Amino acid sequence: MGIPIREYDAVVVGAGLAGLAAARELKKAGKSVIMITKLHPLRSHSGAAQGGINAAFAEEDSIDLHMFDTIKGSDYLADQDAVEFMCSTAPELVRWFESMGAVFSRNENGTIAQRPFGGQSHPRACYAKDRTGLTLLQTMFEQTNRLGVDFLDEWYVSDIIYKNGVVCGVCAYDIKTSEPVIFNSKVVMFATGGYGRAFKINSNAHANTGDALSIVARHGLPLEDMEFVQFHPTGLAGTGILMSEAARGEGGKLLNSKGERFMEKYAPSKMELGPRDLVSRSITQEVLEGRGVGPDKDAVYLDLTHLGEEKIMERLPELRDLAITFLGQDMVTEPVMIAATAHYSMGGIPVTIEGRAKKNTKDLVTGFYAAGECACVSVHGANRLGANSVLEAPLFGRHVGKTMAEDIDKIELTPVDESVADAMLAEMKMLTENNGDERVVGLRSELQASMTENAGVFRTKESLEKEKKIIKELRERFKNVRIDDKSPIYNTDLQEAIELGHMLEYSAFIVEGALARNESRGAHFRNDFEVRDDDNFLKHTYAYMDENGDVSLEYGEVKLGKFEPEARTY
Ligand SMILES: Cc1cc2nc3c(=O)[nH]c(=O)nc-3n(C[C@H](O)[C@H](O)[C@H](O)COP(=O)(O)OP(=O)(O)OC[C@H]3O[C@@H](n4cnc5c(N)ncnc54)[C@H](O)[C@@H]3O)c2cc1C
Repeated sequence: MGIPIREYDAVVVGAGLAGLAAARELKKAGKSVIMITKLHPLRSHSGAAQGGINAAFAEEDSIDLHMFDTIKGSDYLADQDAVEFMCSTAPELVRWFESMGAVFSRNENGTIAQRPFGGQSHPRACYAKDRTGLTLLQTMFEQTNRLGVDFLDEWYVSDIIYKNGVVCGVCAYDIKTSEPVIFNSKVVMFATGGYGRAFKINSNAHANTGDALSIVARHGLPLEDMEFVQFHPTGLAGTGILMSEAARGEGGKLLNSKGERFMEKYAPSKMELGPRDLVSRSITQEVLEGRGVGPDKDAVYLDLTHLGEEKIMERLPELRDLAITFLGQDMVTEPVMIAATAHYSMGGIPVTIEGRAKKNTKDLVTGFYAAGECACVSVHGANRLGANSVLEAPLFGRHVGKTMAEDIDKIELTPVDESVADAMLAEMKMLTENNGDERVVGLRSELQASMTENAGVFRTKESLEKEKKIIKELRERFKNVRIDDKSPIYNTDLQEAIELGHMLEYSAFIVEGALARNESRGAHFRNDFEVRDDDNFLKHTYAYMDENGDVSLEYGEVKLGKFEPEARTY
């Protein structure tokens, strides 16, 4: 029996905030749309977002200030036209969520409450206690269901169908049965989230394995600015599980082993509310200089005890729970141990503001779109500000959904045959039948540990060259990987092996981009090039993979605007 081929106007891959918002628009416009996701939609990482969503609607705030903070935060690498679109649409987007039933925390006078976040001139993050992402995800999920969007949960997308500059579908299999299916469509959108799992200490869900990035790269399409990985300052020591920036927004203090509030040295005006890149480096610096706390002296303290139980339970109940569960530390009575954790991926699939994927620095792919964390539009440049991503994902997701609904009327469906699934089937067969002596867990741990060590908060030419070599070896060894489960039913061994293949490939992009960028900008810090170099590097990296797996780079221009690059001090 052949492989089933199903036809749709649109395939949306990923059911986080970006994908759901797009699917809703497509369905509303009367298009046939299938939403494919490897997780149940409510397990998408968007649901883990704690802190908030930015919108400048307080009287003393302004769209211009939000833009300025975002662009300064990005170390001037953000595209200013995209930032303007995002910041000016933000207040309407928050109202839109509210009108669909999302309940935000309130001030006593009934207005939507807003809390301060790092690198911002004004309290701008709207929130639902410390469960903002879950509240918004639930709302979007309800709304897509209400319109009758079709979902395929626990389906794994392993390839796009791409030929002659046109994407016309995806190849996927049902995780429950391993049954392959070809989805033939006029447009495809990737909304597959981030790639933080490449690092040992990270705040990301297990599913954040960046599959889409290498799927795209395997077809010779570019990835943009992959070297910019955000390290969040406050992950729980040992695990990296996130203590939201809301903790510092509400007044949390960072202390080293001497009890010093060390941010006085690094960001005297903003203190703990400096931008994430700066605070992460400061924490790591304190640890490297021997002022860390904990059994391995590799953490610092986040102290919230002065807030009192009532405020902590009102504003940060989830955080308190997490710290008790994972460290046995109750933030009401004692400081909590934290360290920097890989958190967010600024880079991704290069797209226009309308979400159209780029074939290179000049041309577009027909029928292919992306939004959310897997895309690089680029509103975050070299460093994202807190609460700008829960904003970006549904905002651009919705916009891209509208673009696709219009484009569908102009695109003819390119028919396909079964052979388009050959690559997916070959990958599944190789990984299931291989009898080598390498294990997924071992290779993955080696990748994660070495990425944290060599391509983490601080980088040098030597550390990156070392990592490049390690990845090359791991990719060779991956060819000898063996999985135990050979059955087609819920084969999570197989899925993890496929995901590891993706992680190894996109990690090579992170390292190659970082190695070539001889400067320090935002989250990318080179000990051997400590300053930003606008003359040579005020530009976006576009990276391509050839058939041998080697990565080559070219550079594209940054869309500047009214905010001229300045020295970035806080
Ligand atoms: C712990 C944590 C807290 C955060 N807090 C905040 C915050 O307070 N404010 C803020 O602005 N940002 C925050 N962020 C960042 C923000 O939540 C994310 O960037 C954003 O929600 C990403 O949304 P998304 O729709 O792009 O992807 P996600 O929500 O990650 O969804 C990805 C989807 O893709 C699907 N998928 C992936 N690969 C495949 C595949 N191969 N086949 C099929 N399906 C696939 C998954 O099933 C999932 O449905 C936080 C992130 C973390 C990790």
